[in-house]
Amino acid sequence: MPDNAPIITFDHVDKFYGDFHALKDISISVREGERMVVCGPSGSGKSTLIRCINGLEFHNSGVLTVDGVEVFEDSKHIYRLRQEVGMVFQQFNLFPHLTVLENLTIGPIKVRKVSPSEAERTARKYLERVRIPEQADKYPSALSGGQQQRVAIARSLCMESRIMLFDEPTSALDPEMINEVLDVMVELADTGMTMVVVTHEMGFARKVADTMVFMDAGEIVETAPPEVFFTNPASARCRAFLDQIL
Ligand code: ADP
Ligand code: MG
Repeated sequence: MPDNAPIITFDHVDKFYGDFHALKDISISVREGERMVVCGPSGSGKSTLIRCINGLEFHNSGVLTVDGVEVFEDSKHIYRLRQEVGMVFQQFNLFPHLTVLENLTIGPIKVRKVSPSEAERTARKYLERVRIPEQADKYPSALSGGQQQRVAIARSLCMESRIMLFDEPTSALDPEMINEVLDVMVELADTGMTMVVVTHEMGFARKVADTMVFMDAGEIVETAPPEVFFTNPASARCRAFLDQIL
């Protein structure tokens, strides 16, 4: 990973919601294969930051590129971007009226024009990967939260996303299910997937992060490798935040 080229680049990016300045002069890049963990207080702009990467929100100024292509508001462009950049949310966002298998195959069949049999083969492979092959024919409501979140991860893998974004993927889970999701994410990190993860699970962060980012009030306050971030953060704001959550 260390010398790979950047695959996501923010260059002086600003984002407003009306008059509210949600991202302030963000310049940061993520290299191919890098695992970046983003933390910070509620309302600091973490979700906004990652939602701009796959076109769920749009920045107002500066330049944001993903895989060498500038992100801009255009439906065809965003359609392509969403195939390349998978997103896992706090809420699992599965289709309730489709089985697990159908949830995994619908995107590849409809969007990527993969044949149904190939889509099913791929789906079963990734259900193995997230360790729930036996749940293929169930509906999401029959699964635990941890299982549903693993289906959501498998769904992104089925789309062959090159970049995976996670927005507090374990925040909606009961405590006993958090680790089963984090374990799958650790394994995904081991495959070399480029990942940007918003989370306050600092055990996970210490294990997988190449880079830690701390945001506050729409700014990136601190960017450091975990060994520096957790032992000697440069800013008082970051130190105070870590004192609270660790
Ligand atoms: P975080 O994920 O760090 O909690 P967000 O990126 O969700 O922060 O939000 C950053 C700030 O932007 C918050 O103050 C939030 O209220 C505001 N915000 C987020 N989404 C919208 C929106 N769609 N319209 C107006 N304000 C928003
Ligand atoms: Mg958020």
